[in-house]
Amino acid sequence: MDAKKVLVTGGAGFVGSHLCERLIAEGHEVICLDNFMTGSRGNVEHLLSNPKFSLIEKDVQQPFFAKVDWIFNLACPASPKHYQLDPVATVRTNVLGILNMLDLAKATGARILQASTSEVYGDPLEHPQKETYWGNVNPISKRGCYDEGKRCAETLCFDYHREYGVDIKVIRIFNTYGPRMAKDDGRVVSNFILQALRGEDLTIYGDGSYTRSFQYVDDLIDGMLSMMLTEDFTGPVNIGNPDEFTLNQLSDLVLKLSGSISGVSYLPAVLHDPKQRKPDISLAKEKLDWEPKIPLHEGLAKTVAYFKRIL
Ligand code: NAD
Ligand code: UDP
Repeated sequence: MDAKKVLVTGGAGFVGSHLCERLIAEGHEVICLDNFMTGSRGNVEHLLSNPKFSLIEKDVQQPFFAKVDWIFNLACPASPKHYQLDPVATVRTNVLGILNMLDLAKATGARILQASTSEVYGDPLEHPQKETYWGNVNPISKRGCYDEGKRCAETLCFDYHREYGVDIKVIRIFNTYGPRMAKDDGRVVSNFILQALRGEDLTIYGDGSYTRSFQYVDDLIDGMLSMMLTEDFTGPVNIGNPDEFTLNQLSDLVLKLSGSISGVSYLPAVLHDPKQRKPDISLAKEKLDWEPKIPLHEGLAKTVAYFKRIL
């Protein structure tokens, strides 16, 4: 494959930094654009000396121009704790961000991949979730700024595709974990691991019966790159691990892998928290020849080792 010139918005975040790393390893030239709201220079420090890598501190809400072949639009805080800090900014980042990136794609002819989310399915009434399911989102809940922002971003991708022929790719990412998740972002995997390593009780919201399907970050990056390389396929396509776990199962596994003596503490359930989530990935298998390879216990062991190192 020819080396590409690639723009990664949100490239200094958890997923973005792994994506930049992989793109550089494959010989591409990468511009990483980030405002460091939840990401950090530290996440991409190891790439800074590479002449093919550049880091630009900028908000995706502002227009940006560079002659690029590919755009990956990831800029957006992903954890409920962070996207609810300034909900209006979350909507702006999603909507103005994708508008700016679609305008850039339209002007340059670049192919653009939008990092959408399983949250477009809301608290799903269909299980597992297929791409044909339109979702069950509460637009006025505290999660609405993220869910509806991401839904509108998908709408804009498809309108730019139909109206202007922009070459779009939309992936719906399910819960992803791995090294470089921010310590303070409140997501369940990082919370549980940090609590276990610090000897604190693991905090379970609700009775522990809610489920999620957790994907290791390397599998996601494989899926993103496979999607970017497809021809004549826009998506949306689910990228996630279909192995579903209750929060009780996850806490048991984290305690075992970290050798922790922590206990578990049950706190009230969070309002409008989706009760279950599991992707149907048959479309990704068919169109991308992709499926996740890393089971939860293996990915968690690597993530525990990472957090042990940085603590
Ligand atoms: P993250 O918070 O670690 O990364 C987001 C990055 O975007 C950060 O570096 C942040 O500083 C940057 N950013 C935020 N607002 C910005 C703005 N206005 N301008 C420029 N940069 C901005 O989150 P992540 O887990 O790496 O998620 C990356 C993308 O994948 C997000 O779009 C998220 O919605 C999507 N996603 C992630 C998951 C997951 O489980 N990790 C699931 C579904 C979707
Ligand atoms: N959760 C929990 N304890 C925590 C953090 C999260 O029980 O310390 C729950 C949360 O309420 C949700 C699930 O774990 O039911 C996944 O939460 P996360 O924020 O990781 O992802 P999302 O809600 O976006 O799927």
